[in-house]
Amino acid sequence: MNEVLARSKQPLVLQSPLEVHSAVIRARTCGKRVGLVPTMGALHAGHLSLVHAAKAECDVVVATIFVNPAQFGPHEDFDSYPRSFESDIEALADLQVDLLFCPATAEVYPPGFSTYVDPPDVAKRLEGECRPGHFRGVATVVLKLFHWIPAHVAYFGEKDFQQSLMIEHMVRDVGLPIEMRVCPIVRDQDGLALSSRNRYLSAIERQTALALSESLQLAEDLVRQGICETQIIRTEMRCVLEAQGIRDIDYISICNPQTLEEQSEVHSNVVVLVAAYVGKTRLIDNRRIG
Ligand code: AMP
Repeated sequence: MNEVLARSKQPLVLQSPLEVHSAVIRARTCGKRVGLVPTMGALHAGHLSLVHAAKAECDVVVATIFVNPAQFGPHEDFDSYPRSFESDIEALADLQVDLLFCPATAEVYPPGFSTYVDPPDVAKRLEGECRPGHFRGVATVVLKLFHWIPAHVAYFGEKDFQQSLMIEHMVRDVGLPIEMRVCPIVRDQDGLALSSRNRYLSAIERQTALALSESLQLAEDLVRQGICETQIIRTEMRCVLEAQGIRDIDYISICNPQTLEEQSEVHSNVVVLVAAYVGKTRLIDNRRIG
């Protein structure tokens, strides 16, 4: 019975930056280690894996839900982005998250707002090229969250590989007093990386989308077979995607995982990244090979 009661305890939901700041400072003053899990909601097991990681090493876990308009392009899916606040709260309650911060847009971007973060160099390629302004929006909101929620540790997912790297560089460059943890990608059993945007996919599109993770698996298999020319690997990956009817491919990239510089040959650790449209839904996935 106690367990049931404890499990259903809802997180304290705060909308005010000053209130969340005070709550976190109070926790820190009591000697608690605070973990932060920033999200845009529509929570799935990928997000919840970050919460699990935070619970494992922190006394107090703060999740945030904010669909950040500044990181969406004018023709992107800000309006239709899935929002499922009620079930998100339940999922966070099940994991005994202590605090949920979900600010109003006007609180994050008050009238007259014009101060943005210029993201670091690793943000320039790939997503940075395909989604101009995206990382500027991400960096700006994450810096604000770090400022309002002075946690000891922040948890991000390797699913958004370039985003996590970009935030690591920002933390280093700005000298922010927060530790970064980047957690592994959570996938469905058939390999599809979990994403809030998977909700847009029809049953057929979902099947088609498997080609992304399959192409990454093929890249790994080719490297294991001793093929190290990335040109060949990229071509084979493209074939896997196109065979499933995926032709609108933003990039297939084989990079140095620290700098995101494109590699011509695989000699040491690399990260293979892919971004493509399945129907109207833009999906990204990646895999480290080393
Ligand atoms: P989002 O709500 O899409 O902004 O994601 C919030 C956080 O969850 C980011 O750090 C993502 O990288 C992470 N995340 C999203 N999908 C996954 C996944 N499948 N596995 C692990 N982390 C994820």
